[in-house]
Amino acid sequence: MFQLTLRRRGISDQAVLRAMEEVPREQFVDEADRDGAYRDSALPIACGQTISQPFVVAYMTEQLQLQKKHRVLEIGAGSGYQAAVLSRLAGQVLTVERYRKLADAARIRLEKLNCHNVEVMLGDGLNLPPNIGPFDRIIVTAAMEQIPENLVERLEVGGILIAPVGPHQGVQTLIRLSRTEAGIERKQLVEVRFVPALPGVAREL
Ligand code: SAH
Repeated sequence: MFQLTLRRRGISDQAVLRAMEEVPREQFVDEADRDGAYRDSALPIACGQTISQPFVVAYMTEQLQLQKKHRVLEIGAGSGYQAAVLSRLAGQVLTVERYRKLADAARIRLEKLNCHNVEVMLGDGLNLPPNIGPFDRIIVTAAMEQIPENLVERLEVGGILIAPVGPHQGVQTLIRLSRTEAGIERKQLVEVRFVPALPGVAREL
């Protein structure tokens, strides 16, 4: 059923569908939500955040055109679910989260699922230390009013960055940036709703 829903909504990349099938989403949601873990909807997680809707996870993953050699940066680890999907298709994944509680929980889950190629880092994805990167792929899973130059700079030539861009409240547009020898190409994809990307490491746990 889960795969069928994703296919119906237009996901056709077999490797992405397989990765979605293999990652147990019920382990990334609150215990009370386990029964609904495979419905195509976002769900609340700790710290007032959300685990994204499966279709959006699959769609963003498909748009990244991942290969096993790729080094990927994710901003917004949340539950770690998107990172687990990425880990099955990419070489290395670094995922950054501003809440310690979420970062710690994601790290434990990902270890349990043997996602050894994922590193979870507590930090501010809007203001990463200069020594982090470059990356072949960058995926932002929190809404940004604009894409910060210091993220675009971390993208290799041939690289793809995907991010929800728009107002913090309401609807954003998923934007895909591709870095070529000639410069940056920008494409608007679909409308999405994400929780906001906020500056700094959270003070609460
Ligand atoms: N990808 C996640 C869902 C992301 S929800 C999953 O699969 O479950 C968005 C997450 O981005 C939240 O956990 C939020 O705390 C985090 N976030 C927001 N701003 C951030 C920032 N500047 N740096 C790192 N993480 C951030």
